[in-house]
Amino acid sequence: MKQSRKKDGENPKQKEPKPNLVRNKPPHLDDIYACLQCGYCASVCPVYRETGWESLTPRGKVYLLKHLIAKDSFFDKILGKKAADFLTGRGRISLEEAMTKIYTCTLCGRCETICHVDIDFHKYWEEIRKWMVENGIKPPQNTIDMYNNIANEEYKNPFMEPVPKRDEWYRDDYRLPEKADILYFIGCMTSYHEYQILLNTLKIFTSAGLNFTTLGTDEMCCGAINTMSGQWDNFKTIAENNVRQIEKRGATRVVTGCPACYRALKKYREFVECNFKLLHTTELVAELIEEGKLKFTKEFKEKNLPIVYHDPCELGRISDYEGKGIFEAPRYILKNIPGIDNILEFSNNRMDSVCCGGGGGLRAVNYDLTMEITLRKIDEAIELGAKTIVSACPNCKAQMSDGVKAKKEKMINSEEKFKMKVMDVLDVVAKSL
Ligand code: SF4
Ligand code: SF4
Repeated sequence: MKQSRKKDGENPKQKEPKPNLVRNKPPHLDDIYACLQCGYCASVCPVYRETGWESLTPRGKVYLLKHLIAKDSFFDKILGKKAADFLTGRGRISLEEAMTKIYTCTLCGRCETICHVDIDFHKYWEEIRKWMVENGIKPPQNTIDMYNNIANEEYKNPFMEPVPKRDEWYRDDYRLPEKADILYFIGCMTSYHEYQILLNTLKIFTSAGLNFTTLGTDEMCCGAINTMSGQWDNFKTIAENNVRQIEKRGATRVVTGCPACYRALKKYREFVECNFKLLHTTELVAELIEEGKLKFTKEFKEKNLPIVYHDPCELGRISDYEGKGIFEAPRYILKNIPGIDNILEFSNNRMDSVCCGGGGGLRAVNYDLTMEITLRKIDEAIELGAKTIVSACPNCKAQMSDGVKAKKEKMINSEEKFKMKVMDVLDVVAKSL
């Protein structure tokens, strides 16, 4: 006999309750109604530039939100459709489609620099995602998986990598003290994928004679992916765990080379008392150079010159919105490396820097789109005549390295030769020690 899967008291026809977005309005309603629909933001949005889809511009998404939360009007009722149809061209937009549009964004915050009514997009998009999740709209499945992996004690990182692997690159070579003044918060991307940056950072700190340590296998993902994807409910627990571990080491300064960790650790202060100063590695290394604590002995390889510096969105523009953008420390470091006399600049740099493509969790939603954004960036670097793209973010390094590989594959049958290195500022420093 066929087994019924129905449980006691469960109605098989019962559907998940539909979120009531008309009643549970999103944050920053005033911004939604203030938008002039002028479209200036579209001109700078990297997603729009690659897709050409008006519904993916900031203006399109704000318009979409306005209609998601609007009550059906008299005419809507008669016509059986909302004006949101203009966005899709085919009937009422589903919540899943709306979610995909809101998440098709690198969270680069470039739209904020130009918005005519000063919408604080660097926090706006994150808060809209949070509101969607709180109202039962599921974020992209990949981000749910990452959230679960972080919460799993076996991993504590989004990539399902085992905890003991976190410090395997250095635990035998560096006997770090249990307590130290400086705590190097490594981050998951650097610990598991871009570990060359980790090894180079340890080399630099050791060479400068710093009293530092790490959290080793006690480090947990900073939680940036949770906040980016709107899944905030365990962020406080993550913050408490990492801050408790930092306090155990007695550190007064915490330094990280990952801009996503840098911003997440800054957010911890909203949930837990933090008695330490937070720095990005480029700030600390610039300080070490200024104080004469780092001695360079080798010139940067001429065949990899000239270099072009890419400002990571989270380190530069977005940190600037939040108080202090880090633009000059990486450039100062590079200018002090023997052999580097000239740093090329992208046509849009500092506050106007164009995202590398890998921000905001967009890789989890539309990897191909991130590659299109990256390839445009790489093409500009080639046009500038650069041989090396340098950044100060492990995610930018990973994304642009993938872009260089993709570009090489595209050019496999071409007679043109293409050579491009992608490095972190600290990779450049370590090579010159
Ligand atoms: S944050 Fe960046 S990608 Fe997202 S809408 Fe604004 S400009 Fe476009
Ligand atoms: S620039 Fe600002 S006001 Fe103008 S359409 Fe874009 S979001 Fe709206």
